[in-house]
Amino acid sequence: MARKINVADKLGVNNYHTDETHSHITVNKENDNLQEIDQVVRVCPAALYSVDPSGEVFFEHLGCLECGTCKALSEGKVVKEWHYPEGSKGIQYRFG
Ligand code: SF4
Repeated sequence: MARKINVADKLGVNNYHTDETHSHITVNKENDNLQEIDQVVRVCPAALYSVDPSGEVFFEHLGCLECGTCKALSEGKVVKEWHYPEGSKGIQYRFG
């Protein structure tokens, strides 16, 4: 019987050249709109956004798929600034 592969398994085989010190995405910590925060938390396919019970949003840039979904949804709201990682940093896409 074939083993089922879940999302965490799939994300775990990605290759990254991580930039440990610089996040390519900046979160607007002054935005306290819980509906907008919840949308970003739910939309990120890598589950990099989280919110604590007080409504504070947290973001971890390592593991970003650079899909741009959070930018398209929330730039100027929860997402303060979004750009690709510098140089050859970030996710390494594979083809085939
Ligand atoms: S670009 Fe995609 S993977 Fe990266 S934080 Fe935004 S939604 Fe998540």
